[in-house]
Amino acid sequence: MVSLRGALWVTLLAACGGQHVVVSEPAAPPAAGFLLSVTYDDLPFQEALAPADGALGGTSRLLAALTARSIPAVGFVNCDRGGDEVLRLWRAAGLELGNHQANHDNLNRVPLETWLDGARRCHEALKVYNPPRFFRYPYLFQGKTVEVRDAAYAALRGELGQTIAHVTIDNHEWRLAQLYSEALAAGDVARAEAVRGEYIPHLLAATANARTVAQKKLGREVAQVLLLHANALSVELAGPLMDALAAEGARFVPLEQALADPVFSLPDAYVGPAGISWLYRFEPVVSAWTWEDETWTDLEARYNPPPPPP
Ligand SMILES: [Zn+2]
Repeated sequence: MVSLRGALWVTLLAACGGQHVVVSEPAAPPAAGFLLSVTYDDLPFQEALAPADGALGGTSRLLAALTARSIPAVGFVNCDRGGDEVLRLWRAAGLELGNHQANHDNLNRVPLETWLDGARRCHEALKVYNPPRFFRYPYLFQGKTVEVRDAAYAALRGELGQTIAHVTIDNHEWRLAQLYSEALAAGDVARAEAVRGEYIPHLLAATANARTVAQKKLGREVAQVLLLHANALSVELAGPLMDALAAEGARFVPLEQALADPVFSLPDAYVGPAGISWLYRFEPVVSAWTWEDETWTDLEARYNPPPPPP
């Protein structure tokens, strides 16, 4: 959820005990398979990015693609946004719903207690559908100060008994979905098709990047957690994306199985405003999320270029 391309790994600068460690050189992810949990945020649906058949129709098509492939995805709900019919479709498909804070509040901006009230409210609302087990931070923002970060952890884990649904494969899929819908709304079919063509290659590159970061920091594959959103583009390409990921070696597992990987039990060593992959939050803290930044700059330059100077 940080902004900012690079098709290839360039250089990973890691702050380690006050020193900067350069972990460089591109390395192709190993050919062996990896565990992958798929998650969708912003349920019931990113309304501004809904397909022609609406949130209900889009959700039905998304769930059909996932269940046809036996993919145990988890959907993360903003509970103040209604959508009971949509949420019931997820449950009818046998898929679990998690807490994404009631109103998608930004922890970098709203007071902690206001933000936590939203987390508590969503926790209660979800009980209609399933016992809530997982929490996903909006924007992946976890607190700009150590006090806020740790107070949020304590409330979510202790008071609400939630498991934090960390993300390892952060990416710009949500931005592609915006660019796609904007192009369609403007009647620019060629541009919409070009953006659509970016979706699967972008997500495969994000996955390869996460596997490479894990290899460089831990020397092994880790269970990966993929962040996607409920929007028109994700609906259209869910099936082909999952098939492409499987071809790369992904073995789809339930979220609790992925989160049982010891990597998620490492101490959180990051404090700051960025919304970043869990792979950058433990020691050594990576202070440059190069792939994410460079892919963002590249996409914006090609699909949302700044206006020419006057
Ligand atoms: Zn979100």
